[in-house]
Amino acid sequence: MHAMQIIEWGRPLEPRDAPDPQPQGSEVLMKVTCCGVCHSDLHIQEGYFDLGGGNKLELGKLGVKLPHTLGHEIVGEVVAVGPQAAGARVGDRRVVHPWIGCGACDFCQRGEELLCGSMRSLGARTNGGYADHVLVPHPRYLIDYGDIAPELACTYTCSGITAYSALKKLAHLGPEETVVIIGAGGVGLNAVMLAPAVLKCRVVVADIDARKREAALAAGASAVFDNSDPGAVAALKAVTRSGAGAGGAIDFVGAPATARFAVDTLRKAGTLVIVGLFGGTAPIPLPLFPQRILTVRGSYVGDLTDISELMALVRTGKVPPIPVASRPLAEINNVLAELRAGQVLGRIVVKP
Ligand SMILES: [Zn+2]
Ligand SMILES: [Zn+2]
Repeated sequence: MHAMQIIEWGRPLEPRDAPDPQPQGSEVLMKVTCCGVCHSDLHIQEGYFDLGGGNKLELGKLGVKLPHTLGHEIVGEVVAVGPQAAGARVGDRRVVHPWIGCGACDFCQRGEELLCGSMRSLGARTNGGYADHVLVPHPRYLIDYGDIAPELACTYTCSGITAYSALKKLAHLGPEETVVIIGAGGVGLNAVMLAPAVLKCRVVVADIDARKREAALAAGASAVFDNSDPGAVAALKAVTRSGAGAGGAIDFVGAPATARFAVDTLRKAGTLVIVGLFGGTAPIPLPLFPQRILTVRGSYVGDLTDISELMALVRTGKVPPIPVASRPLAEINNVLAELRAGQVLGRIVVKP
């Protein structure tokens, strides 16, 4: 098999060849059709997440070994199955749910794989889809995508599921409320597209990039704001219930400035959902949390229930597609550079 791999943290990916893996036990070998390029790949390539204050969460210390193959938005075709891989057949075309737990702990046994302390997520902890083949531990992680284009279908396994599961955390808000989506990149734009199916309330979008604000409006946002504009908080609050602020905010960036913007735009008893992994620390005055009865919660990708619900929803044809462009896998380093420079609208997928 052929893969583009991290050989050294922080360096461009390099092509490597290895013998095709043979699926053992419940494993399934997929021939990769295409794989979406996600912002978190940039962090994994660098080898750490920025915790702020000069502190880093290093992937090497989490057990990620080099060489490592990135890529977690995978769609492919089954080419070989292990002796215990019941339910998978050669020729099946499926998207791959990459958020996989150890399979042995109590959380995994109960299907709460995201709570597992020893995740083996594809492309993040184990080898992923920037390759012509990928090994999947069990057929249950393969989801039928019907007649959706594979280039679009793969984006639902990270960009889509991340947006969907974050939106679900604000599904309690009534029609008179407002949710602010901060950051209209691949995931934020997916959230705007999915919002009518998940939320009861209206959605507004904040982004510092005029092009992304325009894309958000076209995707159905009821208003857009430039969060780098000092007047944006007041302007945004003016369109919310009693001018009090938003009932919920989803920060798809996860930077100090966006988290602060989100807190400032919330009404009392509002909920901030933090999704983005940009990094840093946010010095937010602590009395605000009790006095304004705020809730802050994190949201990380989604589970098998979320991906099944999401693919069923997408297959109804009611979710507009995000813009997707295809590139050869050999150009992956250029694609990562464009993503790092903030030049990508929607998603780029690579094909081996
Ligand atoms: Zn991702
Ligand atoms: Zn586990």
